[in-house]
Amino acid sequence: MPERITLRRAGGDEVVPLGAVRAGDVLLVRCGERIPVDGEVASGAASVNQAAITGESAPVEKRAGDEVFAGTLGEVGALEVRARKVGEETTLGQVRRMVEEAQEKKAPVERVLNRYAKLYTPLALLFGALLWWWSGDVLRAITMLIVFCPCVMVLATPTALVATIGNAAMRGSLVKRGATVEALAKVDTVAFDKTGTLTSGEPWLVEAIPLNGLREAEVLRRAAAAEKFSEHPLGRAVVRAAEERGIDIPDPEEFEALPGLGVSARTNGHRLLVGRPRSLAGNGVGVDAEVEARASQLAASGRTVVLVASDGEAAGLLVPEDALRPGAAPAVRRLRELGVRTVLVTGDNRTAARRVAEALGIDEVHAEVLPQEKVAVVERLQAGGRKVAFVGDGVNDGPALATADVGVAMGVAGTDVALETAEIGLLSDDLSRLPHLLGLSQKAMRAIRQNLVFSLGVLGVAVGLTVPGILTPVTGALLHELSSIPVIANSARLIGTEEKPLTGD
Ligand code: ADP
Ligand code: MG
Repeated sequence: MPERITLRRAGGDEVVPLGAVRAGDVLLVRCGERIPVDGEVASGAASVNQAAITGESAPVEKRAGDEVFAGTLGEVGALEVRARKVGEETTLGQVRRMVEEAQEKKAPVERVLNRYAKLYTPLALLFGALLWWWSGDVLRAITMLIVFCPCVMVLATPTALVATIGNAAMRGSLVKRGATVEALAKVDTVAFDKTGTLTSGEPWLVEAIPLNGLREAEVLRRAAAAEKFSEHPLGRAVVRAAEERGIDIPDPEEFEALPGLGVSARTNGHRLLVGRPRSLAGNGVGVDAEVEARASQLAASGRTVVLVASDGEAAGLLVPEDALRPGAAPAVRRLRELGVRTVLVTGDNRTAARRVAEALGIDEVHAEVLPQEKVAVVERLQAGGRKVAFVGDGVNDGPALATADVGVAMGVAGTDVALETAEIGLLSDDLSRLPHLLGLSQKAMRAIRQNLVFSLGVLGVAVGLTVPGILTPVTGALLHELSSIPVIANSARLIGTEEKPLTGD
């Protein structure tokens, strides 16, 4: 990170230390400088190398309005960046904190080792004492204490976990704890959220159908005002559609997000509800048979349908369309090759869910579920003896991410809530990393077992050679130290483990 930052102030530029930068400041990032904050480009254009954050090797073009991340490098061009998050709050700062947490939290395998460690020292002392008493040779007793020193056993697990986390990080997936690696190795079921996870999360509006005599522009204006503060991909699509048509969007006077359902807001005296048609109908919105038929008909073609209600009456239907992420199909295919059961859990309508599931070859579908029901689906799978990873992006996925054995959040499309709750963040939103992570974690657990067996074996041999007095303190120490080399080498192998090429593409 740069230490001296150029701030653009009304009275001219000012150079300040990094710690003095606050959210809202506009700072200058010159060509070749590292961007010191998370923020938005206020003006200028540059190609930015984001490899440090997303793992993407090609630079990305940034222009006014684009988001930039602390720790990324402005390669060609200069930018004025308005700081939104500084210091610990930036993505980079969070990564650092998570890595620190990961180093502190112990995996279950490590806890087991710690339990045995309590017995280990008294046992070593006892063996040493017994050997001294039996042989009358104090050197043999000292050798016994040396070879019993558990260095290799202590290295066995953390070296493998750190190598695994490092491998994942180099490929753009952030694994927060060592314990996650162990949980991931046992996963046999992956449940996906749909909108924003399997789909791009950048939907666009293909149709806006006004109802009850309103004009299309008015429907869009009200819907966009209601969605103006929404973080949901569908909400953003509505706002974008209104902006493209040159509609000016007022700020809502009240706003509430209803996760998994839609939004509720008030603008210009109108009570607005925008969201899932069926749930709004159950929320006191008058939906007559004709509107219902219209909505079902649109839904039957496998589309998401959003109802706009104004003052308790249907005002319009919006039809967004969203493309599947390019990584989704290969990821699902590879997971199934690995024998993993795939499940789709979405708040969207059944036909849209089924269409996506069929396109990707997903085994099991749950549609029209609320956030709590996503949890119930995960719990039901777990009750059936399955180890579940849940992949999601939204606020509505938070509870399910927390319940699953392993929560995986989309890094760029994902909301902060999802990222905070999940144990793994896919920093570049690339689903095809998932099968790699699964395979890698299984490899890591195998390496840990091999390490432990090997170190116990070496201990057995060393004890066997110490009792008759073949090993001396010096040769005992040598054998002992040398035996950590294969263990570390076995763990280090994991850093280089490549992603298996996906079949069929
Ligand atoms: P998923 O589980 O696939 O990510 P969500 O649970 O986020 O989907 O949303 C489920 C449904 O709820 C959407 O298909 C949409 O009909 C409705 N919905 C949720 N949030 C919004 C919103 N902000 N604007 C409009 N509709 C919404
Ligand atoms: Mg979602």
